[in-house]
Amino acid sequence: MAEVLLRKNNLVSNSVTGIEKLLHANGVERVKGFASLLDKNTVLVDGEPIKGRNLLLATGSIPASPALLGMDLPGVVTSDGLLEMDKVPERLAIIGGGVMGLEFACIFNAFGSQVTVFEYMPELLNTMDNELGKRMRVFLKKQNIEVYTSATVQGINSRGGRLCLTASTKKGSLETEADIILFAGGRKANTKGMNLEKLGIELDEKGFIKVDRHYLTNVEGVYAIGDVIGGPMLAHAASEEGIAAVENMAGMNRVINYQAIPACAFTFPEIATVGFSEAEIKAQGMAYRTGKFQFSANGKAQTMGETEGMVKVLADSNDRILGMHIIGPHASDLIMEGVMMVKNQLTVSDVVETVHPHPTLSEAVAEAVKDVYDQSIHLLPSRR
Ligand SMILES: Cc1cc2nc3c(=O)[nH]c(=O)nc-3n(C[C@H](O)[C@H](O)[C@H](O)COP(=O)(O)OP(=O)(O)OC[C@H]3O[C@@H](n4cnc5c(N)ncnc54)[C@H](O)[C@@H]3O)c2cc1C
Repeated sequence: MAEVLLRKNNLVSNSVTGIEKLLHANGVERVKGFASLLDKNTVLVDGEPIKGRNLLLATGSIPASPALLGMDLPGVVTSDGLLEMDKVPERLAIIGGGVMGLEFACIFNAFGSQVTVFEYMPELLNTMDNELGKRMRVFLKKQNIEVYTSATVQGINSRGGRLCLTASTKKGSLETEADIILFAGGRKANTKGMNLEKLGIELDEKGFIKVDRHYLTNVEGVYAIGDVIGGPMLAHAASEEGIAAVENMAGMNRVINYQAIPACAFTFPEIATVGFSEAEIKAQGMAYRTGKFQFSANGKAQTMGETEGMVKVLADSNDRILGMHIIGPHASDLIMEGVMMVKNQLTVSDVVETVHPHPTLSEAVAEAVKDVYDQSIHLLPSRR
């Protein structure tokens, strides 16, 4: 574990050094310190005022801290704490079966921890297409990761040198012992100490900074992007919002299409998704068709020995591809094809006539699209 930590810290520090060099080379001055707002053109950093024509607030998020008994006990950590761990815990309990909770579940299970996940909602990964959470649950079970859904964690106490978590589940009350408990139950906007109230900057009901589609707050010249405004809370979304906000400050009209922003989970196997989920399409009362292809029928997945999972494609009645949801090998790389389809409003026929190289995992994407019109020749006719 010490070597894992060392490698992680080296990678992070290389990345930080690289970004510092880029900032410097691009004429960006970096001032170290805690910034708060003085007025709409001035930030204060350690008492020193710094002026700007515009301000861009990008202070990110912090873990939400629920009013849960025992959250302050030693050994109850957030992702920050778990990423600094120099020992593999024998037993790890995770509160939250979303992307972050399941990523850590898979990682620490691979390191040798006995992992148990508690999720409040009836299904895992509840922000994604339902099928992904359902399939993931099967794959987690195969890896001996215990999962409880519809489970409300009621409290944590310390017992004989171990932590003991109590949850109410469908099968009644349950107690689980753990050496470490990870809280992965959501994040909130990081706005503390910034003096937002002094400028009258509006927040939404969950405490995120309110912005318009150009990332402008209700105060002229003050913009905000990234986790502090809520939304997808992903690194690539924050980055693109930053670019768009600055372009808008410069008088351009940049609006981001959130439908085409992908989301990935670096679980085993990986998960990646873009566009509408099936439940969202149903809720809008739209007519739609579904295409699916299993990695077990893909030659490259077979040679890799990673045949678990599938590609699912959703298209509307005009043939337009509305969403793609992948669980399986290299899902996070494969999803870019779906992103291009959704972003550019491609149709099933556009993709059907696009030749994919053999043998590659991308053939599974092509076959899933072909299956929308029962044209996948690598699926048995009985499958239809
Ligand atoms: C464990 C974990 C795993 C993740 N994995 C992924 C992933 O795989 N892919 C993905 O897309 N996203 C991932 N995310 C989400 C991603 O990290 C965030 O969406 C992204 O970092 C948000 O960018 P941001 O610029 O809004 O905020 P941040 O990256 O959090 O940056 C905010 C910065 O502002 C600084 N700051 C805050 N307040 C002040 C102040 N008053 N004065 C001066 N500086 C201040 C903070 O120190 C910080 O450096 C992950 C998040 C976590 C916690």
